Amino acid sequence: YQEFMSSATLIRDKAYIDGKWVGSADGETFDVINPATQEKIGVVADCGPEDTQRAIEAAFHAFQTWKKTTPKQRSAALRRWFELITKHTKELSMILTAENGKPLAEAEAEVASGASFFEWYSEMIRHVTGEVIEAPAKGRQLFAIKEPVGVCGLITPWNFPSSMLARKVSAAVAAGCTVVMKPAAETPLSALALAALAEEAGIPPGVVNIVAGKKASEIGKVLCESPLVAKISFTGSTHVGKLLMQQSALTMKRVSMELGGNAPFIVFDSADLKAAVEAAVFCKFRASGQTCICANRILVQEKIYDEFVQKMGEEIEKKLKVGNGFDQSSTQGPLINRKALDKVTAHVEDAVSNGGKIVRGGKGHKAGPQFFEPTLIRDVPEDALIMREETFGPVAPIVKFRTEEEAVKIANSTSVGLAGYFFSQDMAQIWRVAKKLEVGMVGANTAMISTVEAPFGGVKESGLGREGSHYGLVEYQNVKYICLGGL
Ligand code: ADP
Repeated sequence: YQEFMSSATLIRDKAYIDGKWVGSADGETFDVINPATQEKIGVVADCGPEDTQRAIEAAFHAFQTWKKTTPKQRSAALRRWFELITKHTKELSMILTAENGKPLAEAEAEVASGASFFEWYSEMIRHVTGEVIEAPAKGRQLFAIKEPVGVCGLITPWNFPSSMLARKVSAAVAAGCTVVMKPAAETPLSALALAALAEEAGIPPGVVNIVAGKKASEIGKVLCESPLVAKISFTGSTHVGKLLMQQSALTMKRVSMELGGNAPFIVFDSADLKAAVEAAVFCKFRASGQTCICANRILVQEKIYDEFVQKMGEEIEKKLKVGNGFDQSSTQGPLINRKALDKVTAHVEDAVSNGGKIVRGGKGHKAGPQFFEPTLIRDVPEDALIMREETFGPVAPIVKFRTEEEAVKIANSTSVGLAGYFFSQDMAQIWRVAKKLEVGMVGANTAMISTVEAPFGGVKESGLGREGSHYGLVEYQNVKYICLGGL
């Protein structure tokens, strides 16, 4: 892939502000590292507060014109962007795997998923309507119309560096907003490549700006506190989300927050065991466990417990292969950094010291210093660290339960609520449990829940707002009420 990186046409190493590729104000740069090999794969302008401020001003200036474009014009621009992403899927996927480490097939799926948001919102924006409301008294007519909220700060994580940004920027730009994007410093190249395609798609200068940089808290503070910015949309950890919300309160910004999860995956006695096992392995080990909707706690009813544990061990053996994401046969790439590896190790050690028994895995993998073996631990006590915190790694803890009530109680015993999954063949139970889980998204007899048509988001400390679907567009619109009198 080194050859590829040197011939790639979408690698950008600067910030994109007001339609120009520019270095950071202080001339500083930072390195982008391949987590599979620890090789340096890029050097990018390290933006700070000054660059962010310039990007905000450019976005604010561009908003004055962009908000007046017709939905049809914005639809066409997004359509061009969508087509360019689709055309460059291969290259975008290679860039993604190089900086994030996920297997190339997963990277391709991510790029396609990101592209689907551009297609979706380019179509949806042409269908937006307002309301004509009847007044209680004669001589008046009431209306409710939609307006773009304004400049939006979009802050995204490293685990889906392409699609998380795509999901936000497509809806924002469709609504008529302009944006300043800040990707994670671990994975800036996928985001910069999307900006390069925005330029090629003819999105006007200032509508889409991007500042990458290591000084996340400084960039974040400028975005959150600027009176020119109307909204912050963030995907990342709960503690950073809370901080951004606090900072945003000063100017009463709209916020959308997609934060951490701690997804329960419940398997009831009546479940189709084969389907449940396959789904559990997919749901737990996708992106090496580094997604916010990964199964974090697997709860299995007592009658099928031993069989489930055995079958899940076999499925891991059969389906998963650890290795460099560029190797066609790899399904499990590296963890993003050492810190992630340390957390996974700590969770395993804590589970074992509290009585959990390792069925397979449990330690680092020989593929490299940031690889971890797919791990299965049985008989994990309910109060183990791994049951309370999001692991964000390839470790599946399994817990035995007796009754539905008990399973739901364990599932809900957390401060977050993003996704929840369960397998059951009992119709009444399916509806009951789907209603009882305190989460924003439920997968009943499936773990494949993410799709552009559906609202993605959480409850409790997993955040506010929804992305994708028609709900995702509303997040970037204000409702304006107009009362027309004297009729
Ligand atoms: P993770 O632990 O998955 O890296 P973070 O919440 O730390 O999750 O990161 C998600 C995004 O938030 C990244 O783009 C990161 O740079 C950014 N970020 C981290 N801290 C701050 C902060 N204080 N202000 C603004 N953005 C931040």
